[in-house]
Formats: sequence, C-alpha cells, structure tokens
Amino acid sequence: MSGDQHRHPTAYEVTDYLRSVEEALQVRPVWGIRATGVKNLGYGSSIVLETEAGDVQTRNIVCATGAAARPNIPIWAPALNPRGPVLHSSQYLYPHQIPPGDVLIVGGGNAGVQLARELSPSHAVTLSVRTARRSRPRSSYTSVAGGRDGWLSRHAKSEPLLTDSYAALERAGVVLAPGVASAGGKEVVFTDGTARTVTSVLLATGFGPGDDWVPMHVRVTRARRTMTAIPGLFLVGFPRHGSRHADTIHGVWRDARAAAQHILARP
Ligand SMILES: Cc1cc2nc3c(=O)[nH]c(=O)nc-3n(C[C@H](O)[C@H](O)[C@H](O)COP(=O)(O)OP(=O)(O)OC[C@H]3O[C@@H](n4cnc5c(N)ncnc54)[C@H](O)[C@@H]3O)c2cc1C
Repeated sequence: MSGDQHRHPTAYEVTDYLRSVEEALQVRPVWGIRATGVKNLGYGSSIVLETEAGDVQTRNIVCATGAAARPNIPIWAPALNPRGPVLHSSQYLYPHQIPPGDVLIVGGGNAGVQLARELSPSHAVTLSVRTARRSRPRSSYTSVAGGRDGWLSRHAKSEPLLTDSYAALERAGVVLAPGVASAGGKEVVFTDGTARTVTSVLLATGFGPGDDWVPMHVRVTRARRTMTAIPGLFLVGFPRHGSRHADTIHGVWRDARAAAQHILARP
C-alpha cells in the first residue's frame, strides 16, 4: 500500500488495495461458500477441498481462515437467562444496546477493558477477570502480540492491556470480580464461590481460530512452518502452525512466503 507505512489506512483504502492485488494476480474470489473439509485421494498429488457447494479437486490448498474467526462462548453462557441481553463482544455496537442498570462484562482482556471503560459512565459495571494482565498502553499491538510463554513453547502468551489498567478502571467506578465458574438463570457464580444476580452480560471472551474444518490428524506438531501431514495442504496465519506473529497483519508474511515456497517446490 502506498503512502506513509505507519498511518492507519481507511477501510476504503484497504478494499482498493485488495482489489488491486486481485487484479494483479488475476485471482477470482468466490464469496459466501464455506470450506467444510479436506481429504487426499489415494497416493496421488491431488487433494480435495470439501465445500458447502461441492468438492473441488486441486493440487494445493492454503487454509487462511483466520486465527480469530469465531466468538468464544463459555460453556456456561447458554444456561444464562437474565432480564437483559447476553451478548458476545462481536455483537456489541453502542451503549444503548445495554438496558440501564448493571452489566457484567466477562473477560479482562483488551475488549473487556475497553467495554468497561465505555459503559462505566452510564452503567454499573462489574468486570470479571480470570487472568490479570499487565498494562502497556504505549506499546503498539504488533510489538507485543504473538508472544509465547518461552522460546521453546508453542503456547501463546496473554497479550498485555494496551489500554486502561485495572486500577484506572476501578477509579472510574468499575468493580472487579474473579472469573466466572458457572451460571444459570439470572445468576453467575464466581471462582471464589460468591454468586451474583445479573441484568445484562457482555462476553468479552475472545475469538477462536477458523481452522476447525481441517482434520485433527493432519496437524503435525512442530512441523516445518505451515506444512501438514497432507502434501499440498498448508495452514497460514495460525501461530501454532507457523511463525510467531502469524496472527497479526504485519507478521503473516513469513507464513505466506513459506507456503508459497513449498508450493513452488512441489513436484
Ligand atoms: C480484536 C482484534 C484486534 C486486532 N488488532 C490488530 C492490530 O492492531 N494489528 C494487527 O496487525 N493485527 C490485529 N489483529 C489481528 C488481525 O486482525 C489478523 O492478523 C488478520 O485479520 C488476519 O487475517 P487473515 O486473512 O489471516 O484472517 P481473517 O481476516 O480472519 O480472514 C479469514 C477469512 O476466512 C473466511 N473463512 C473462515 N472460515 C471459513 C471457511 N470454513 N470457509 C471459507 N472461508 C472461511 C472468513 O470469512 C474471512 O473472510 C486483531 C485481531 C482482533 C480479533
């Protein structure tokens, strides 16, 4: 994309950029059809992508369906039936969606903290924090995202808070609570055993990867970057299968380049 590489481009600029890439590469996107599975055919070099619209036989498949593709809904959430709504952060748009009164925000990550800040002037906000995070408000997302617990570990580290600290929220009137252990009807039970009746609940519980259509048995632990047990099937954009910042806009290029090199080198 042209211009200052440190500015935040508008959505229109990004759309134009993606169109120019499509044209340059002569790619024809097919929208609205989900991939549902993949299988290899005998010992040949063809593999089959299963989709809602039928099978596609091909030599290479790149799964790039996103590391944050679907809302994480805690198992206890469907049992909740409070007077107000139970929304995932992906469904929240503005404070008027939440009726006046109390709101329990579950999840002390960046989304939960930003929602707590936004709703604190108009609502009685409780923020349920299971794992406390450090606050580094002056850092950029890409400098801290994608960290691992240790050099040899494949476990992703929790991102620090890039916004208010918990102490700043408390000064703004937000009440902090432990993680939620269970829920039912109008009540949630926290991990310290205390219970509370709630009116509205916002689940800031994050997102999960969109690679669930790739069979478990083809995921190779510590495989060469992006490769799977099916020759010709590559996973791009998932730190577990690729490079450290693979789930960030500035970091996915290493995975993309590795997959492209593997494809070019295939017999
Ligand atoms: C709240 C949040 C904030 C972020 N902030 C930053 C930031 O500041 N800087 C940064 O660098 N990164 C940030 N990221 C990460 C950034 O959004 C991702 O790195 C980037 O969007 C990943 O692009 P992608 O193409 O790999 O996946 P996506 O953009 O998720 O695209 C995946 C595509 O696959 C499609 N898809 C999913 N499943 C299927 C299926 N079964 N069949 C067919 N298609 C399917 C989806 O519809 C989607 O179009 C943030 C992420 C989140 C969640």
